[in-house]
Amino acid sequence: MRYDVLTLFPQMIDHVLNGSIIGRARENGLIQVNCINIRDFSQNKHGKTDDYPYGGGAGMVMTAQPIFDCYESAVKGLDYKPVFIYTSPQGKVLDQKTVVRLSRQKHLIILCGHYEGVDERVIEGLVDEEISIGDYVLTGGEIPAMVLIDAISRMIPGVLSDKQAFMEESHFNGMLEYPQYTRPSEYNGKKVPEILLSGHHENIEAWRHRQALVRTYMKRPDMFEKLNLDKSLKEEIINNPDIPSKK
Ligand code: SAM
Repeated sequence: MRYDVLTLFPQMIDHVLNGSIIGRARENGLIQVNCINIRDFSQNKHGKTDDYPYGGGAGMVMTAQPIFDCYESAVKGLDYKPVFIYTSPQGKVLDQKTVVRLSRQKHLIILCGHYEGVDERVIEGLVDEEISIGDYVLTGGEIPAMVLIDAISRMIPGVLSDKQAFMEESHFNGMLEYPQYTRPSEYNGKKVPEILLSGHHENIEAWRHRQALVRTYMKRPDMFEKLNLDKSLKEEIINNPDIPSKK
């Protein structure tokens, strides 16, 4: 997967995406993250990349010319069109389904806005998808771009050591993940559920599945409602919630 991030603050992204699992994936060549400074493409003699909004109002707007030229340089020589994403609070709110769909692309271009956002003609002329990371407003698109890259890259084969690692995680199958425990088996008088120490894999699987359903019902009833469950199982979970923290 190749990501080209068009930004006014490339160092911000490079720094964060150099650590941990994503940093290792970059090192191993599983993903490529190119942070391209939009300012390098400004034709303004002072390197300006923003201007006052027509019609007045607060703040500055990122001008079209440097963004279009930055995009042209990113796609130069390609015989395909990468998907162009604009991180925007006006976009579709990111979810795991979108993450999985985007992870099947080979090349994403991600535009980070700043100030009051970008000239509308950029959106009309270049953008395939506007993606929001939630219903609130941030100062810039760099954090959303990193959120996107992190979430998508985890889906790319080889980035996580074990495929199961993401298949059982929250949201992958429309559920939240079961509770996790590690050593010691007793801490401050609280014991790890006996079944997890039994070594009986089938029983552990069944317990985890049930816990995942209970958690989803308790924490995200909206997600639980959408699960395609057998009616009797659904009623059993609703009427007899097995809440781990109350045991
Ligand atoms: N004036 C814009 C509006 O009201 O829709 C908000 C601009 S915001 C201050 C500056 C930039 O931050 C946006 O262009 C976008 O790239 C990014 N941004 C802010 N909140 C975001 C969110 N929730 N999701 C994705 N990007 C966001």
